[in-house]
Parts: sequence; structure tokens; C-alpha cells
Amino acid sequence: MNSRKQILILGAGVSGLSTGVLLLKEGYDVHIWAKDLPPNTTSNAAAAFWYPYLCNPKDKATQWSGFTLQYLKQHALNDPTSGCITRTITEIFDRKVGDPWWADAVESYSRPTQADLSDEYIDGYRTEAILMDTTIYMDWLLRLYKQLGGTLEQKELKSVDEALVSYDVVVNCTGLGSRELFDDKRVFPVRGQIVLVKPNGFEDVLADDDGHNNLAVIIPRINDIVLGGTAQPNDWNLEVDPKDTEDILQKAKLLSPAFKEVEIVGQKVGLRPARDEVRLEIETFGDKAVVHNYGHGGAGFTLSWGCASDVKELVNQLTK
Ligand SMILES: Cc1cc2nc3c(=O)[nH]c(=O)nc-3n(C[C@H](O)[C@H](O)[C@H](O)COP(=O)(O)OP(=O)(O)OC[C@H]3O[C@@H](n4cnc5c(N)ncnc54)[C@H](O)[C@@H]3O)c2cc1C
Repeated sequence: MNSRKQILILGAGVSGLSTGVLLLKEGYDVHIWAKDLPPNTTSNAAAAFWYPYLCNPKDKATQWSGFTLQYLKQHALNDPTSGCITRTITEIFDRKVGDPWWADAVESYSRPTQADLSDEYIDGYRTEAILMDTTIYMDWLLRLYKQLGGTLEQKELKSVDEALVSYDVVVNCTGLGSRELFDDKRVFPVRGQIVLVKPNGFEDVLADDDGHNNLAVIIPRINDIVLGGTAQPNDWNLEVDPKDTEDILQKAKLLSPAFKEVEIVGQKVGLRPARDEVRLEIETFGDKAVVHNYGHGGAGFTLSWGCASDVKELVNQLTK
């Protein structure tokens, strides 16, 4: 007889899959039910590079993102099939800025010199971090989950009762879906559109999230370069908007002359599951429990392994 404890995870984006991997490694039997499976999740629309963007609370986000960086270094970076590579990331500002709030998450960071910056920018943060190229990383994560024995079923839930009838402990990684499934109106969409262009030799991640050119970002991946982007709160439009495309291309040109001419190879839109703070906690339903893990905003990848590790601790508390 199988005496391993059964855990059901709702959601198969980066949060559900990373949590699944850590729970499997902990010795649980893990099943996932998800309305959409990769490659049709929000996570698949992301770039994604490590950077704690649009996420709260800051103290926990620093801890979760620091954990994720270390975890990726130990478990993904040395595997060429993971889609993870080291990249230098520079965020630039047109005003003087204090220390980054996430400083404790990284081993070190520096400030670009004025010679490194174009005339309109006067300050910045630069650090070595990790790009998780979602075109490769999401498949790697799913493969890892399945290799460890995890199962996956496409299934949309209308009520959590459908899960609690068969499982004592359910982990909720439904992102924006929690708005309806758990009637949580604190989670809302922040629409992101990106343009994918052919590689042109540009190698570092460059972002202006705060200045006159925001939100402009250049993310060189393994087989393409992502140009971003938009951050439109409460916009549910999943279609590519040609006006946004034009704006994104214009901002990339202003960030670097290397993008005066580009060859577009694709475009994507995703709805970031934003919340005033990530919800990572236990909610009880009689003698059953749900561990929530959603609301990661623009940092679902950056926080993923740190949040998964905290979920694992909460599941251990509930089952041991
Ligand atoms: C354009 C763009 C660029 C981004 N770039 C970055 C980046 O560079 N770095 C970074 O860290 N983050 C980035 N993000 C943010 C990141 O993509 C999200 O934070 C992350 O994908 C959230 O993952 P998740 O697993 O929580 O949710 P999702 O990926 O949305 O997965 C939710 C899962 O729950 C399922 N689900 C929902 N409702 C139900 C239901 N009722 N029943 C069953 N299943 C349900 C869904 O089908 C899906 O499987 C970006 C986002 C966008 C849009």
C-alpha cells in the first residue's frame, strides 16, 4: 500500500511546478490539476529574468528572491538543458537613487559609471543574475516534475470543494485564477506585452522601469531578444495591441542604438497576477487545508523557489 501523503496542487505555471518539484523531493505524492497547461500559462508568456519587479512585501520578496537565485545556481545553471544562463542586469535611472531594496538578495551589486550611461541617465544598479529562458525553462521544469513522479491533469475548478472532497491538503498556485476561485479581489491583472526580435549580439539585460522611458526593457535570451514592455493594471486584453508594439520598439531604440533596426520574430501578451502582497499562508476549511501561493506580480520566476520552499514547510506542518 502507498503510504506517501497525497498533495494536490492547483495550477501548472512556474509556481505550481516549482512547488511540485520541492514537494516530490520531500517525499510526497503530488498531483496537479490545472485549467491551462504549459505552454498556455501566463508563465510561458514571461521572458524571464531574475529581478524582483512588481512584488510585495519587500522583506519577504528579498528573502524569496535570494533563495531562488541560490537554488538556480545549485540546481539549474549547471544543467545545459534548463534554459538558465548568467546575465548582467542593469537597471538605469534618470535621477539619483538609494540602495536597491533587494540588495540583500544578491552577493553584490555595483553602479554603472556615467561613461556607461547615455546622457539622459545618471544612476543605476548592476548585478549578475540569472535568465530563465521560458521557451526552454518551462519545459525543463515540467520534465523534472514528471521525472520525479508528479502527475498532471487538465481540469478547471469552479470551487475548491471539488479538490477538498478528495485531498486533505491542497496547494493553490492558480495566480490570477484565485480572483474567482477564492473570491480574492486583491489579485488583479497587470497586462504585459512583449516583442521578440532576432539576436543582434546585444548580451546584457537593460531596463528603465522608473524613468522617462519606462517600462523599457531589453532581455537577450538564448535564441531571441525580448523587448518590453507594458504594465497596464486591470487591463484584461490578451490580444497584441499594435500601438503597444510601436511604443515598445520606440523605447528599445531610445535605450540602445543597437535596436534602430530589428527583425520581429514574435509577440506575446500575458496578465501578471499582481496583489498588494504575495499570499503565502494556510487557510483551513473544516479539517482540510489550502496552502496559498499566488499573487507574484512581475516576479513569479524570481520568487519561485523561495516561495516553493516556504510552501513545503507549511505542508510539512500540516502533515507531520
Ligand atoms: C510579459 C511578461 C513578462 C514577465 N517577465 C518576468 C520576468 O522577467 N521575471 C519574473 O520573475 N517574472 C516575470 N513575469 C511574471 C510571471 O510571469 C508571473 O509572476 C508568473 O508567471 C506567475 O506564475 P503562476 O504560476 O503563479 O501563475 P500562472 O503562470 O498564471 O499559472 C496559473 C495556473 O493556474 C491555473 N488555473 C487558474 N485558475 C484555475 C482554476 N479555476 N482551476 C484550475 N486551474 C486554474 C492556470 O490554468 C495555470 O495553470 C512576466 C509576466 C509577463 C506577463
